[in-house]
Amino acid sequence: MKAEDVSGELKEILHTKADIDRRVVELAAEIDADYKDKDVLLVGVLKGAIMVMADLSRALSGQYPMDWMAVSSYGSGTKSSGVVRILKDLDTDLTGRDVLIVEDIIDSGLTLSWLLSNLKSRGANSVEICTLLRKPEALKVEIDVKYVGWDIPNEFVVGYGLDWAEQYRNLDCIAILSPHVYS
Ligand code: 5GP
Ligand code: MG
Ligand code: MG
Repeated sequence: MKAEDVSGELKEILHTKADIDRRVVELAAEIDADYKDKDVLLVGVLKGAIMVMADLSRALSGQYPMDWMAVSSYGSGTKSSGVVRILKDLDTDLTGRDVLIVEDIIDSGLTLSWLLSNLKSRGANSVEICTLLRKPEALKVEIDVKYVGWDIPNEFVVGYGLDWAEQYRNLDCIAILSPHVYS
């Protein structure tokens, strides 16, 4: 879906499909360079990270196995609950593995800081984070994020995997949702 299909519901386009394509390729080049002699497991966080995982993994060189987790944090609203629950766990044993978490967005950072310590406690050799988007709130939490696509304003965004009540995930760009849609 393109922005013009839902233009009355979007306040502003932050990153076009072309911006995203370019930035994802840059992130992939950094990751390839950093992990060139390692066997990395990509861990995507469902469902928001599906698009970035699909594009990032294809832009990487060589084998990058992937696995998925689903955790609850937001429900269908727009505010983090602070309560994290595993809805779907990994199939992969992390013992001795180098893990790269692939995320769509870090907002409060509550989900990721919880996920980070959870994955580290499983005996991984290293756990790093790649997120396409990061909001300023996240900077208040102690999380070391190795790869960030963009820092964005503190507004609710949709598209490229990011939803509001399961809608807008298939929008091909990243846009600020008009508050009239959810208020
Ligand atoms: P956090 O725990 O960092 O506050 O947020 C975790 C999850 O909430 C993200 O992975 C994402 O799924 C969702 N989220 C946070 N901010 C936004 C946003 O602006 N738009 C959408 N659609 N989801 C968000
Ligand atoms: Mg997410
Ligand atoms: Mg969501």
